[in-house]
Amino acid sequence: MTLTADEIAHLEALPEAAHEVEAEVLCELEAGHPGPHLALGQGFQPDGEIWIRWTSAAGLRELTATLGQCDAERPAEEELCELPAHHPGRHSFDLEEGRGRTPTAQWQAQIEAALARIENDQPR
Ligand SMILES: [Zn+2]
Ligand SMILES: [Zn+2]
Repeated sequence: MTLTADEIAHLEALPEAAHEVEAEVLCELEAGHPGPHLALGQGFQPDGEIWIRWTSAAGLRELTATLGQCDAERPAEEELCELPAHHPGRHSFDLEEGRGRTPTAQWQAQIEAALARIENDQPR
């Protein structure tokens, strides 16, 4: 589905938005799942997520606040499912691959600063 300019502006304006919003949104659930499609719209501080839910027929289309996190965890690897609670289909760690997201410039700077700190802390 394609976001409108208003929806993109809304997602970009969230506090400390975590990633760049792309107009073309792809469903993150297992192919062939029942119910509406679902994709992460934005992560923001403190601890919030906006999910996009839609159906291909002209019915449902909404941006919805955090739905609760799925608490499934891949054994041994401590990899958490990234989908909301009660999602249909398989967990995100069982799907082919997660969708890559581009962090916003603000987050990118924070990530780089954190990595630089780790490097400086290494004993020589
Ligand atoms: Zn879907
Ligand atoms: Zn899950």
